[in-house]
Amino acid sequence: MILPLVYYDDKRLRTKCESITTITDELQTLARDMIETTRANKGLGLAAPQIGKLIRLFVLDFTECDDEGYPIVGDPLVFINPVITNPSKEVVTDFEGCLSIPGLREEVTRPKTITVTALDLDGNEFSIEASDYFARAIMHENDHLNGVLYIDRVPPYVRKAIKKDLQAIKRKYHS
Ligand code: ZN
Repeated sequence: MILPLVYYDDKRLRTKCESITTITDELQTLARDMIETTRANKGLGLAAPQIGKLIRLFVLDFTECDDEGYPIVGDPLVFINPVITNPSKEVVTDFEGCLSIPGLREEVTRPKTITVTALDLDGNEFSIEASDYFARAIMHENDHLNGVLYIDRVPPYVRKAIKKDLQAIKRKYHS
């Protein structure tokens, strides 16, 4: 089922989400619906608050990038209660967009590599060392679970430049 999205600057996108204590059938269905919703919107990933659920869950629809560093979509991965560690000192700057902030793309600087530990849909813990765009997407989605958006991470002059665009998005989706 394709789920309705929550748009900037809905309060639910600004809330610290709760840890998941039990992996129920409903949660499994929700995760699958989130993957379907990501694909339907031509996104790369989706975090639970973006569909109005304030729980620590996100999905990505890629695990690999091509030679030019662009995601190869169609390989979904579910992260429950993710924890990010070991951010590299080396950083990379690249464009990001967000399904909750339609039409906008801006450059964000983030660590080049991280380690993420999470539970899968069977409740098994897994750890991944991720780099480049895969790491970037994990950090972007993980930020959502803490009420943080990528536009919070752009330099002040960019934030100023996109102010009007953000207001237009607010008007369009919350009228
Ligand atoms: Zn996002």
